[in-house]
Amino acid sequence: MATAVETRKDVQTHQLYINGEWRDAAGGDSIPSINPSNEEEIARVAKGTREDAQAAIQAARESFDRGDWSKKSFKQRSDIMLQALKHVMAKCDQDDWATIESSDAGCTLRMSNLSHVPVALEHFRSLTAQAGEMKEYEPLPWVDMPAVAWNFVNREPIGVCGQIIPWNFPLVMACWKMAPALVCGNSLVIKPASMTSLTAIELVKALDETGLFPKGVVNLVTGPGGAVGEEIASNPMVDKVAFTGSTEVGRRIMQLASGTVKKVTLELGGKSANILLEDADLDLAIDGALFATFWHQGQICESGTRLLVPESIYDEVLERLVARTKEIVVGDALDLESGMGPLVSEAQRATTEKYVEIAQQEGARLVVGGKRPEGLDKGYFYEPTIFADVQPDMRIAQEEVFGPVLSVIKYKGVSEAVKIANNSIYGLAGGVWSRDVPEAISVAKAMRTGTVWINDYHLLNDVSPFGGYRQSGVGKELGKEGLLGYTISKHIHVAQSGKRSDRFVWDTLLP
Ligand code: NAP
Ligand code: MG
Repeated sequence: MATAVETRKDVQTHQLYINGEWRDAAGGDSIPSINPSNEEEIARVAKGTREDAQAAIQAARESFDRGDWSKKSFKQRSDIMLQALKHVMAKCDQDDWATIESSDAGCTLRMSNLSHVPVALEHFRSLTAQAGEMKEYEPLPWVDMPAVAWNFVNREPIGVCGQIIPWNFPLVMACWKMAPALVCGNSLVIKPASMTSLTAIELVKALDETGLFPKGVVNLVTGPGGAVGEEIASNPMVDKVAFTGSTEVGRRIMQLASGTVKKVTLELGGKSANILLEDADLDLAIDGALFATFWHQGQICESGTRLLVPESIYDEVLERLVARTKEIVVGDALDLESGMGPLVSEAQRATTEKYVEIAQQEGARLVVGGKRPEGLDKGYFYEPTIFADVQPDMRIAQEEVFGPVLSVIKYKGVSEAVKIANNSIYGLAGGVWSRDVPEAISVAKAMRTGTVWINDYHLLNDVSPFGGYRQSGVGKELGKEGLLGYTISKHIHVAQSGKRSDRFVWDTLLP
């Protein structure tokens, strides 16, 4: 059970979880968790060091090699984890977790109650259950050339998985990483984002209290990316690194992981295009476009930050977008009236402000927002902001802001829209809005991107693969493909003849 020590300002300091024990960071330091709605410290988390990461990796390695988790079957692990989840669900108060998430990360309570917390736990359950149906033994077609043999695949865990997650969906990201790694038999070391570690810690505490995982299988090390993250990405005992975060850090992780040729899964940034076709139902598409962009203050990797609108309806769409945007309530994340909360940090707001300035210098036309809201002096709030007359090559149309800024781009024909959509280093997601579903599907197929929603946005689920094209990432999460990413296939060949004379390939060497 975690022992929380009191430090300054009466707030809890959460410890690291290594080899089944809670402990302070080697250096004894901690990092504040700040509520971005009011800039107050709500907790502190241990500031893990490289030494702590090494201890956690060592524990994970030993547990994996011991085999008391890794050698169980998919079904056995799935059953144990579903039992563990029942304990977690019985103990955790989802409202409490939603409140922690909203206080720590600034997502509105409406969002964390309806989405972050229940979706995280449901995906944990579903991925675990799906893996329970997976088989270690996978048959292969019978072959009789170059020798009569029975071939099969033995599906195995990869080993020690290092998992590094971002601050925008802290609990969802923890569940997307931990559940598949564990149910597939790996041991893991997870590092939450320094700004938003609290719900991942709650989850690990709850899992620890079940007593169902052998020690060393689950390890959690909070602390800076430059120390804990880099150790995870480079330590030779780690077999796979799964990372969600910026493309810039993703590149660094790939470099570090290449030292020992680790498997990598990278879920990175995006600049997703949302294409309105001429026949779109505008009552749906206007709200959909705003939901695609401003949900969670735009701090979502797949946000539809480029809205592509045909010139015939451009002015009407713009006018309606602006009118609806003015109705969005920005306020304290814990206030149920708020549709948008604060950005996660002062730095994230500064980045947003920088891009608003750049867009104006580039000649984009600010039509709504573009400033901090009045009357909210504390907290990292920023108004939902729309730029019109954005040209596809402007920085505001090419670079990820990760704040509430929408670029509206005019196009002439559908092929031009697709060309603009694909003019990006990213390829994470996108949307198409049309009453003509076959046409919308053909546009979706032409988009070089990992997910396309038709007449909807942001809805990821537990069975559909998620992951980017191009610089949006490597590999997939969720569904069967996501689960397979935590396994490795071993080919086993069993010769079916005992006769030397059947081994004619050997004759290429031997007389
Ligand atoms: P970030 O700066 O890349 O950080 C992500 C994680 O990496 C954090 O835990 C961070 O630790 C750690 N980290 C930082 N530097 C590191 C290094 N040198 N080596 C190893 N780890 C390091 O990203 P962010 O600002 O938190 O998140 C925003 C970005 O994530 C956006 O670009 C967004 O598009 C992307 N994102 C993508 C997805 C997706 O699924 N594709 C989902 C969410 C977010 P610290 O917290 O200690 O810095
Ligand atoms: Mg925080």
